[in-house]
Amino acid sequence: MHPLIQQFVSRGLVITDGAWGTELQARGLGLGDFPDAWNLTHPDRVGEVARAYVEAGSQVILTNTFGANRVRMAELAAASRVEEINRRGVEISREAARGRAAVFASIGPSGKLLLSGEISEADLRVAFQEQARALAGAGADALVVETMTDLAEARLALAAALETGLPVVVSMVFDTGKEKDRTMMGDTPERVAATLAQAGAHVIGANCGQGIQGFAPVCRRFRSATALPIWLKPNAGLPAIVDGHARYNASPEEFANAVPELLRLGANFIGGCCGTGPDFIAAIGRRLNPERHE
Ligand SMILES: [Zn+2]
Repeated sequence: MHPLIQQFVSRGLVITDGAWGTELQARGLGLGDFPDAWNLTHPDRVGEVARAYVEAGSQVILTNTFGANRVRMAELAAASRVEEINRRGVEISREAARGRAAVFASIGPSGKLLLSGEISEADLRVAFQEQARALAGAGADALVVETMTDLAEARLALAAALETGLPVVVSMVFDTGKEKDRTMMGDTPERVAATLAQAGAHVIGANCGQGIQGFAPVCRRFRSATALPIWLKPNAGLPAIVDGHARYNASPEEFANAVPELLRLGANFIGGCCGTGPDFIAAIGRRLNPERHE
């Protein structure tokens, strides 16, 4: 196990952060705006989000760099600023953490499909290498390849991330099939765990796609397939569209009440994805350590 990851998991469940997009929207980000560009134009507001998570008790915070790869950014005519946006993303989270939380830098999917030939493996590899290097060079503690729907793309991103020497978390979306226990491409938790472990991931995970109840079977099946630490970031239940915005139906308390079960099933890192905010992170802390919050 990577020493940094070992250090974390030996202390018990690690609380990560929640969603960033909705928090940035609450601070003025428009629905069609590219959130990562705010690292350059509104670093103060991005920093507020990071700080809100640290204050809520996140021991690990991510970075506002989910979409900052050249494939996604090419469409935004911002590809020349890949390095800068990633570097600032790490710096903003680092400054907000002030040593109280580790900074795991976010790498999201390209938005293109390998299978249909929309993008080549070679182009994807270059894009992930560029982003991973920028994040590592700026001082990230670890890299998180997240919200992946295609195991082939996840493996390319993992390989690029591993080249930096940092520990790497790879987290996929399980939201397909009758039981919502497969990725978009049909891979099971067992296959994902075995493939990513074999490919050198330090932590395997699941995020987004469904509410916290659906994460229990995925966690159990991950644990049966691998001894690697498990990272989970469920959504806050199911979305309903209200005034053009997705509203999620789980309360922070409902979400937090499901966390002990995930811990029992072998989870090591827990936070939230869509619909979760700092109040969810604080609720997890209260649920796990009630005496500390009286
Ligand atoms: Zn999500």
